[in-house]
This record gives sequence, C-alpha cells and structure tokens, in this order.
Amino acid sequence: MANLIDGKAFADKIVADLKIEVDEFKKQTGVTPGLTVVLVGEDPASHVYVRNKIKRAQQAGINSFQHKLSKDTDQQTLDQLIDKLNKDPDTHGILVQLPLPPQLDEEAVINSIDPEKDVDGFHPINVGRLSAGQSALTPCTPLGCLLMLQHELGDLSGKDAVVIGRSNIVGKPMAALLLKHNCTVTIVHKITKDIQSIVKRADIVVAAVGQPEMVNSNWIKPGATVIDVGINAIEIDGKRKLVGDVNFSDVEAIAGAITPVPGGVGPMTIACLMKNTLSAAKQQVGKK
Ligand code: NDP
Repeated sequence: MANLIDGKAFADKIVADLKIEVDEFKKQTGVTPGLTVVLVGEDPASHVYVRNKIKRAQQAGINSFQHKLSKDTDQQTLDQLIDKLNKDPDTHGILVQLPLPPQLDEEAVINSIDPEKDVDGFHPINVGRLSAGQSALTPCTPLGCLLMLQHELGDLSGKDAVVIGRSNIVGKPMAALLLKHNCTVTIVHKITKDIQSIVKRADIVVAAVGQPEMVNSNWIKPGATVIDVGINAIEIDGKRKLVGDVNFSDVEAIAGAITPVPGGVGPMTIACLMKNTLSAAKQQVGKK
C-alpha cells in the first residue's frame, strides 16, 4: 500500500512555521506582509477558494484585503484597481482570482501586475526567471507539489519525472521546477502518443489534467510517487463528490506514495501562496 502524503497536515505545519517567520519580520521591520485578493463575479468555487486564502492569511499573521467586483466589471475598472494596488505600500502580494468573466482579458491582467507583487507567479517576468533557473515568485500549486515530493523523497536528482498536462499555471512551471531540481522531465498532453507507456517508466508522476480518475494502476511503475493535482466534481448516486485525475483506490495499491483528493495538493497551494506573500514583502521592504 502506498504511503499517503497528507497535504493538509503538511500545509498546517508550513503555515505555523511561517507565522513565526512573519512575526520575526514584523518585529524587525515594523511591516506586516499584506495580500490583496481581487475577485470578479460570482463563481461559487472561486468564492470558496478566496475564503480559504483569507483564512490562511490570518493564521499566518498576514494582512488580507479583498476587492469583490461585479461580474460585468469592465477592463478599465480592473486595470485601474491593479494600478492602485501596484502602488499600495500595504499590499505586497496581489492575487486576481481566475477564471475571469469573458469580457476581461486574462493575459492583460496578469501582465499588468507588478512582477514583485505577483504572488501567483504568472507574470512573464517570473515565468522567464523560473525557466532560466533564477529565483522567482513561483506558481503556488507546482511549488506545493515540489515541497511534498522533497519531503517524501529527499533529493530529487536523477529521478525520471512525467508531468501530465502543459497548462501555464500547473504543467509547465511544474516541469521547470523538476528540471531545476535535476529530474529528467517529460511533459505529456492530449496530442502525446502512447501516454500510458511514457508515464509507466516514471519515478515521479504529477497529474494536472482535469479528467476524473484518468490515471489507473496500469499507468504506474510499482513504487512511483504520484501527485494528483486534479480537482473534478463528479456525481455518484446523485451525490456530488470531488475526485482527482488519478484513480486513487486503484493506484494506491501499486504506488510508493500518493496524494489524496481532497486533502493533498489543494491545501499546499494555499500554504505556498502565504510563503510567496512573505517572500514578496521581504523583497519589497529590503529595497527601501
Ligand atoms: P488546463 O485545462 O489548463 O490544462 C489541462 C492539461 O491537461 C492540458 O495541457 C491538456 O492538454 C491536458 N489534457 C487534458 N486531457 C488530456 C488527456 N485526455 N490526455 C492527456 N492530456 C490531457 O488545466 P489546469 O492545468 O489549470 O488544471 C488541471 C487540473 O488541476 C484541474 O482539475 C484543475 O481543477 C486542477 N487544479 C488544482 C489546483 C489545486 O490547487 N489543487 C490548482 C490548479 C488546478 P492540451 O494542452 O493538449 O489540451
């Protein structure tokens, strides 16, 4: 049976440790790190994510501010708000909750955030720095996956890693981080031929696909470490249930270690957002 990687417990520990670091930072600088979350529209999942982020910020001793905008907000209004937040000394991290309503240009919004306040790590400057192996604000979900992998496996050097999915927010930065830590990395996607045999040779599998329980035990090398990023809502007997991209009960029997859904990558993503907010505050205050 695979070892269960408890993302919730790990995230609790990260936030508790971070609180000590934040308190020390406040004592030394007189500055409280601040995270501002911008939420546009009424997407119920986004509202839940934002609530969880605000709660975690409080636990870490980080100030949190919220701007809730209506679903028909125009581009100019959002641009003006970001411009104001870029200049706001109490805001060290800006997070615009995605997805945005269709009238808004997501790429333009990401590009308008000051890269030093880009705690999601989506700005092209941070993407470029990560690709170049330089220090950068790193996307929270892949960072959380990396921390869990290091916790489970120690040094990742020489491991064969396969990332399923090539999105800008998970797949690509995950691959860049694994490469930075000396893994041999393959990214597979919809067009890849014979995905199963590629995944089967991996020591590390990160699934970020958005397809319920796509990965089963036939895809997994015995003893491999499996990180399941997927969050998919399905209905069983009329009841709504969250499952990952990995068929957990099947893969658990063959993997060396595995993350559950929920309680795996999700809590780690939010803990890493808090880490990024403190890093951003340190960087900004250090410059003054
Ligand atoms: P995207 O839809 O942006 O990307 C999905 C990727 O998976 C694409 O690269 C796509 O390939 C690939 N893909 C889709 N279907 C297949 C298939 N049948 N075979 C192989 N590859 C496939 O999703 P995200 O990366 O944003 O998110 C992925 C999952 O992770 C979702 O379930 C999302 O909810 C979850 N998520 C969870 C987070 C957390 O904190 N736990 C945070 C972010 C996301 P192609 O490029 O060829 O289309």
